[in-house]
Amino acid sequence: MDDEVHLVWLKRDLRLRDHRCFHEVGRRCAMGHKMLAVYVYEPIVYQAPEFDVSHLYFLNECLLELREGLRRLGGELLILRGEVVRVFEQVRRHFGVTHLWAHEENGNATTFDRDLKVAAWAREQGVLFQEFPQNGVIRRLSDRDGWAERWNRRMQQDVMQIPALMHSPEVRHTGDILDAAALGLVDREMVERQVGGEDEAHEVLESFLYHRGTRYRSEMSSPVTAYDACSRLSPYLSFGCISVKEAYRIGRARLSQIKVGEVPLGTVTVWKQSLRSYLSRLRWHCHFMQKMEDQVDIDCVNIARAYDGLRGENQEMLERWAEGRTGYPMVDACMRAVKATGWLNFRMRAMVMSFASYHLWLDWRETGLVLARYFVDYEPGIHWSQVQMQSGTTGINSVRVYSPIKQAVDQDPEGVFIKKWVPELAEVPVAYIAQPELMPAMEQTFSQCLIGEDYPRPIVDHQLAYRDAQRRIRAIRTIPEARVEAQQVYQKHGSRSSRRHKRSS
Ligand SMILES: Cc1cc2nc3c(=O)[nH]c(=O)nc-3n(C[C@H](O)[C@H](O)[C@H](O)COP(=O)(O)OP(=O)(O)OC[C@H]3O[C@@H](n4cnc5c(N)ncnc54)[C@H](O)[C@@H]3O)c2cc1C
Repeated sequence: MDDEVHLVWLKRDLRLRDHRCFHEVGRRCAMGHKMLAVYVYEPIVYQAPEFDVSHLYFLNECLLELREGLRRLGGELLILRGEVVRVFEQVRRHFGVTHLWAHEENGNATTFDRDLKVAAWAREQGVLFQEFPQNGVIRRLSDRDGWAERWNRRMQQDVMQIPALMHSPEVRHTGDILDAAALGLVDREMVERQVGGEDEAHEVLESFLYHRGTRYRSEMSSPVTAYDACSRLSPYLSFGCISVKEAYRIGRARLSQIKVGEVPLGTVTVWKQSLRSYLSRLRWHCHFMQKMEDQVDIDCVNIARAYDGLRGENQEMLERWAEGRTGYPMVDACMRAVKATGWLNFRMRAMVMSFASYHLWLDWRETGLVLARYFVDYEPGIHWSQVQMQSGTTGINSVRVYSPIKQAVDQDPEGVFIKKWVPELAEVPVAYIAQPELMPAMEQTFSQCLIGEDYPRPIVDHQLAYRDAQRRIRAIRTIPEARVEAQQVYQKHGSRSSRRHKRSS
């Protein structure tokens, strides 16, 4: 019995609370077994085109906190680097590992194949490998019917507490947290980036549920207000610093507290609406991840194949879009902001994606990769489903082409966000901030912004590009085979929620 050594393999579950593996292993430590946690910097992950140094910073902050937390309990975290099966074999030989514990990862084909290799290695070596779900995503799901009920049942389960004590074997070299240079990644400056870690996750959630959340519904769409009004929980959920279940349970508990006297006068209704919206988005979180779990290649093929071959490549347009030099101030501000901070609100994510796919007619695989690198909260299942949804290639979602001009007028009427991120436009009068190219020559001189020199002319004509995109997509939508395929896609991926929740499909 005492010889059993349990290895907890950490991937995107970087927390101590509500962690099924630590929970199980903690119980065994109480019976005299030993445990080791391990995180492996895998080349297949950090060299992948979607990986960015911002993900590494966030990850390293989580690892630092987790290592300290485990040590306080008597446990140890190994931080190693290499191909995971090779690393595990070395660890097995050195420590006599008998059990391997992990959470299911709902990733793309690369991580899915690696998980299969680990399972095969464990079988060959007689290591008992146990994997658990850590959210509402269901592995080997046969049908979407009843999915929401199953999700609800998962969310009702108890939150698992941190084990009281752990024991690790003596470890001489625990491995180092590796920086960008050590992993051969290009470093870059960021501002206002969210900091990783479980403590930070709980602080962010608390500030949302007790203070910031009151403005969630009314302020989530504008990038001027959304940085503060949205929960900002996304990177913590993506790296597993907090489980979806715990984020949900804490949110529900707070909702049940909201009554007259508990919150400022006149805010009961807005608080309740905000918290309900937040809670339903946690279901969307898993709903979208389920799509990649059910179809692992949605990061490289159109969900509806009727749209194959639709778009092409244009390196110059891709670069101008990625760097925020399109001549559309709202698009440029968003792209520069998300590159610098690692976060953007939903509506603006949808707008920049829609602009790349419809106005610039760029292939979503390339543009999706740019955004995956920019988003600190990159979550493959949500990301690629949304990328395809905003590009019109799912076959089941209504085609929504955002106007970058209208979004600027509606969401940033004073030009606050635009002027912050596109300083060339700082002196441009508000009347022209959505379309600075309309400024008369004199105005351009006064505002020190010569169009075509200091700030680019619009990369494409909005009206022409918009109409052309609608025509091309509609031409495919009406083909009978495309309609049949759309039915099949709905059967596989469509939300069965009530009409009230239809937006999530
Ligand atoms: C093109 C595109 C790409 C996206 N890529 C990602 C991604 O890689 N990772 C990611 O977490 N979200 C992604 N989203 C969804 C959404 O924009 C973010 O989840 C949200 O903006 C994160 O901010 P928040 O945590 O403050 O969200 P809140 O609005 O406070 O919502 C709370 C949580 O609910 C979930 N959620 C909210 N909106 C959605 C949604 N539309 N779909 C699925 N889950 C949602 C998230 O986990 C979020 O943290 C993408 C959206 C688009 C349009």
